[in-house]
Amino acid sequence: MLDELRGIVGPEHVLTEPDLVAGHLRDWTGRFAAEAGVVVRPADTGQVSAVLAACAAAGTAVLPQGGNTGLVGASVPLHGEIVLHTGRLHGLEVDEVAGQLLAGAGETIGAVHAAAASAGLAYGVDLASRDSCTVGGTVATNAGGLRVLRHGDTRRQVIGVEAVLSDGSVLSHLGGLTRDNTGYHLPSLLAGSEGTLAVLTRVRLRLVPAPGPSAVAVLGLASPADAVVAAGFARRIAGVSAVEFFLPAGLALVREVTGLGAVLPEEHGAYLLLEVDGSAEALVQACEDLPGVQDAAIADDAPGRAALWAYRERHTESIATRGSVIKLDVTLPMATAGEYLDRLPSVVAGLVPDARVWLFGHLADGNVHTNITGVPAADTHRLEDTVLRMVADLGGSIASEHGIGLAKREWLGLGRSEAEIEAFRRIKWALDPAGILHPHAVLGP
Ligand SMILES: Cc1cc2nc3c(=O)[nH]c(=O)nc-3n(C[C@H](O)[C@H](O)[C@H](O)COP(=O)(O)OP(=O)(O)OC[C@H]3O[C@@H](n4cnc5c(N)ncnc54)[C@H](O)[C@@H]3O)c2cc1C
Repeated sequence: MLDELRGIVGPEHVLTEPDLVAGHLRDWTGRFAAEAGVVVRPADTGQVSAVLAACAAAGTAVLPQGGNTGLVGASVPLHGEIVLHTGRLHGLEVDEVAGQLLAGAGETIGAVHAAAASAGLAYGVDLASRDSCTVGGTVATNAGGLRVLRHGDTRRQVIGVEAVLSDGSVLSHLGGLTRDNTGYHLPSLLAGSEGTLAVLTRVRLRLVPAPGPSAVAVLGLASPADAVVAAGFARRIAGVSAVEFFLPAGLALVREVTGLGAVLPEEHGAYLLLEVDGSAEALVQACEDLPGVQDAAIADDAPGRAALWAYRERHTESIATRGSVIKLDVTLPMATAGEYLDRLPSVVAGLVPDARVWLFGHLADGNVHTNITGVPAADTHRLEDTVLRMVADLGGSIASEHGIGLAKREWLGLGRSEAEIEAFRRIKWALDPAGILHPHAVLGP
């Protein structure tokens, strides 16, 4: 098998040395790690096709890997899969007239932003992992991020894809037509398929107008429930592009880890970060109409905006310094989000008294990144089960934007009916009859 793979991609692109593969075996959270592995790095779609055909013939499982920033245990080969790394699938071509960009699956989102900006345009998806996560990975996970409120999630940006099925056949629909109702829409199906249906090799993305002047505010509010109400009203502000939240414990941790100063003179029960088109004056006026705002810090120059964003964006890395993190990325309806934020800490404390709960996220979409640290391994499953069932009981989704992967596979039925899961199984086996593409993710083998 290894000889065959070396023949396809070249011997230097089949990695087996422990030093060379180490970074591909451990995920960003440190919670999921494989002991050994093989990494194959094809240079183009033809090589991806040949690798998959060889693996299908041998019955060898394959795990596509982009930037390895995924947070649901699906980006590393926990079951001995061969890692198909997309880092050599390059290419960035902007079509200025169509307002689109054709990208190799291995390009980072940071590189996509730079290419779009050089043509006076922008890409609508942005997330803190932008300099590592890839086009292929963000499509495969249907990544959300900081601008969903304005531009929608990654699926909404995808106009066409090129992808390889497990038998090596290549699906390519990259013509760039935005009105094209010829049969099933495969890009929608592959967005969010988490590497289980096909390997994405190239993607045509829609670009959006470059943002004009904007202002950012960090607002202090009395409680998480007040933040939910204000976030709901903030959606009505003309030109609003982001509504994020965090809590005092997370803010204190970010400040401790990063050395940032105080954002507001006094502590508040919850914080909202708003970004709105226009000047600081316009944002001040908009904030006056929001219920429950106690204080605000506002900036409309680039360094000032970045300084305010840092309080929100540096949460993930700061929490990671507290050891192994249980990451339960969930969505609540706005009607029950306040109840979730209020009740969750005591629910967790009731199960694991020493655990710490860190909550932040994209609140205007109901998204709550639920991070829990200090949980002994023996209590992890019980805790995850309790929190995810609570989310489902409150009418929420157990997988907001990170996907199901392996970490939430067991709870897929909390969000999907048996009939839907059976339809998923039929789609999986129709596209991957050999069952070699990431067989342990989402549905399981
Ligand atoms: C600091 C930080 C902040 C983050 N913020 C956000 C956020 O705001 N919003 C959000 O949605 N996510 C966020 N994430 C999670 C992560 O960045 C996203 O899930 C991202 O889309 C993963 O992309 P990747 O290239 O790293 O994929 P990987 O981690 O390599 O893989 C993720 C999944 O996609 C599959 N896959 C990868 N490439 C391909 C391909 N070419 N074809 C088919 N399948 C493929 C893999 O098999 C795996 O199942 C964050 C992560 C970090 C570390």
